[in-house]
Amino acid sequence: MAEKGTISIHTENIFPIIKKFLYSDHEIFLRELVSNAVDASQKLKRLAQLGEYKGEMGDLIVDVKVDKEKKTITISDRGIGMTADEIKKYINQIAFSGATEFIEKYKDKGEDQQIIGHFGLGFYSAFMVAKLVEIHTLSHQEGAEPAVWVCDGNTEFEIKDGDKKERGTDIILHIADDSEEFLEEFRIQQILDKYSKFLAIPIRFGEKEQQEEDGEDKDGKKKWKTVKVDNIVNNTAPLWTKSPSDLTDEDYKAFYKELYPMAEDPLFWIHLNVDYPFNLTGILYFPKLKKDMEIQRNKIQLYSRQVFITDEVKDIVPDFLQLLHGVIDSPDIPLNVSRSYLQADGNVKKINGYITKKVADKLGELFKKDRDAYEQKWEDIGVFVKYGMISEEKFEEKAKDFTLVKNIDGKFFNIDEYKKQVEATQTNKDKNVVFLYTSNEDQQHGYIETAKKRSYDVLILDGPVDSHFINHIEQKYEGVTLKRVDSDVVDKLIDKDEKKESVLSDDDKTKVEEAYKKAINDDKNTITVEPMATDDMPVTITMPEFIRRMKDMQAAGGGGPMMFGDFPMTLSIAVNANHVYTKKILEAGSEEEQVELAKQAYDWAMLSQGMLSGKRLTDFINRSVELASK
Ligand code: ADP
Ligand code: MG
Repeated sequence: MAEKGTISIHTENIFPIIKKFLYSDHEIFLRELVSNAVDASQKLKRLAQLGEYKGEMGDLIVDVKVDKEKKTITISDRGIGMTADEIKKYINQIAFSGATEFIEKYKDKGEDQQIIGHFGLGFYSAFMVAKLVEIHTLSHQEGAEPAVWVCDGNTEFEIKDGDKKERGTDIILHIADDSEEFLEEFRIQQILDKYSKFLAIPIRFGEKEQQEEDGEDKDGKKKWKTVKVDNIVNNTAPLWTKSPSDLTDEDYKAFYKELYPMAEDPLFWIHLNVDYPFNLTGILYFPKLKKDMEIQRNKIQLYSRQVFITDEVKDIVPDFLQLLHGVIDSPDIPLNVSRSYLQADGNVKKINGYITKKVADKLGELFKKDRDAYEQKWEDIGVFVKYGMISEEKFEEKAKDFTLVKNIDGKFFNIDEYKKQVEATQTNKDKNVVFLYTSNEDQQHGYIETAKKRSYDVLILDGPVDSHFINHIEQKYEGVTLKRVDSDVVDKLIDKDEKKESVLSDDDKTKVEEAYKKAINDDKNTITVEPMATDDMPVTITMPEFIRRMKDMQAAGGGGPMMFGDFPMTLSIAVNANHVYTKKILEAGSEEEQVELAKQAYDWAMLSQGMLSGKRLTDFINRSVELASK
């Protein structure tokens, strides 16, 4: 008995559309068919547990075979199988109507092909690579008859009696001429490794060779022989499916190596496990981040019931969490919809919130339990925490306590602690507590030393997100301002309105100013002569905090407000009226000599800012040699 019919419900030419839509992602046909085989096997297991299936179970292995001669790929399972009626119901109607609906919906929208690739077109994705597909199946039901379904990728199919003797399903793909790459074993192995690595039923892809002990030779040395063993592709019980209480640190580290063979050990990890209001399991690892944020992304793998879906989790976890590694497995993440829908999806939002909270809790716990250990890890997790702080309000609320800053003495504080620490010495006349920081300890060394002489403390903020972090602190903590150590002369960094007496008369001041004007010969810069401590430098060059931040933002690309245009390199040059060197300038014999001395002092200041180069540097060296030889 054979029956013929047409599959088409709405569209005559659905296969060309499927093929075209999924162009970029043809390889997922194997993911879909192997997952169906695993589903069918797991369903049988469940039926047996429920007592609804009483027959023998046997070995529930799924086989993938390639026949290069016949140009076929066969996927076989020993799962529940299908009756002819079930084929009609599940293959001809339901799956197909799903696909039709989907294509109707998206065919005009030009949606990203990736998403469409992630849509489980399921069984019909076989037609992306096959010109003919056969299903040979025998249902697990008692007295069931074997059935065969054949379809050539046009809209006609045929169902007839089959001759399959064993329970289960064989899907035979006759590979199309343009898809023969899939007849290469390494290609199939590659796809299985990518998508099937953690499926719950063993997947066998032929055999592989292995060395085995073979007794001892007459000298008592071990002998080895080569044997062929099943090539099982997957680990059916990946770590995230197990209970945390059964696992040791070594287990977690070993699994991390399994996921990322080249990576260093992770710092710590979080085992995720929720079943309400959505299902989610997984393990998130904190890698050693150091300072390079970019190369670390795309390391979290997303699974749905142990089937690999993607490692692009952009829309599912908050941006800052993408710096983490590991796996998330959730059947509740809708994978069949467009990106904008995904962002609005209630489950996705909840998942987002849940993961954020879990990560914050874990960090909080580590911080409380062993602060020293936490501080030691700060170099590696600091970028991550600060980034989370800046970008996620929910995280920020929790992270306040354990977001740390480090000072030049290597001590760590959270912002509240630090504010208390420096309040007494670093509050200015407007009652603002001024945090001083350096973005480069070496380059700003002289300024740091000057600040230390005033008993000021200096923070090190030299990371990739620190310029944003600085703005964030100022926004969130009232009465806190941050200033880089070289943004002003030390007395004005923290302006306490304590007027220093100048030893110079107004007349002398003008003379000094004139000498420097001639020496510097650049009217973009402002020159002031002001009273400072006698042991401060004779000349200090600074760039105001505001201007520098604007420049930084511009350099970082587009962040700065355009109305400011391109900032000229405006420097403030402050001459120390109270320094003996200034007195020396005034007492010099000629104006020429005065200018010469001013040049020298200006160059010292340039040198300490790391700005002396080229002709200016050569002139400076020659002048210094001359002066020293006098
Ligand atoms: P989905 O897996 O999302 O349900 P598919 O298009 O992949 O969609 O499959 C459609 C249906 O066909 C399945 O739900 C299942 O009932 C049936 N099916 C597919 N492959 C098998 C198989 N190997 N064994 C038993 N039933 C299968
Ligand atoms: Mg399926």
